[in-house]
Amino acid sequence: MEHRELLSGFVRLHILHHAAEGELYGQWMIEELARHGYKLSPGTLYPLLHGLEKKGYLVSREERDGRTARKFYRATPLGIEALAIARAKARELFGEIMHDPHGSKKTASRRKSGE
Ligand SMILES: [Zn+2]
Repeated sequence: MEHRELLSGFVRLHILHHAAEGELYGQWMIEELARHGYKLSPGTLYPLLHGLEKKGYLVSREERDGRTARKFYRATPLGIEALAIARAKARELFGEIMHDPHGSKKTASRRKSGE
C-alpha cells in the first residue's frame, strides 16, 4: 500500500466500520478494501487485524472446516465506541479538507497533479 503510514488510519476505521456491522474475515476485508482502491496484502492486513484485537477493538473466533480454519472478527463495545468518536472526527476533518478553504490562495506550491 502506497503512503501506508498516512492511510493506515483510514484502513483501520474501514475495518472497524465493517466489523461493527457484522463479522468479517481477512480475505473478505482485502477484497472490500481493494474495491475502494486500497491494495493490501495479507501480510499488511493481518497485523492490522491483530493490532485492533490486541487493543480491544475487535474480538475473533475461529471456525474450522476440516483442515482449514478461518478467523472471524467482530467489533467489541469499545470498538463501536471508538468508531463513533472517529466518525465525528472524520466528518469534521473531511468537511475541512474537501471544502479546501485554502484553495483560493495562490501559492508557489500549487500544482496540478499528474502533470
Ligand atoms: Zn467498505
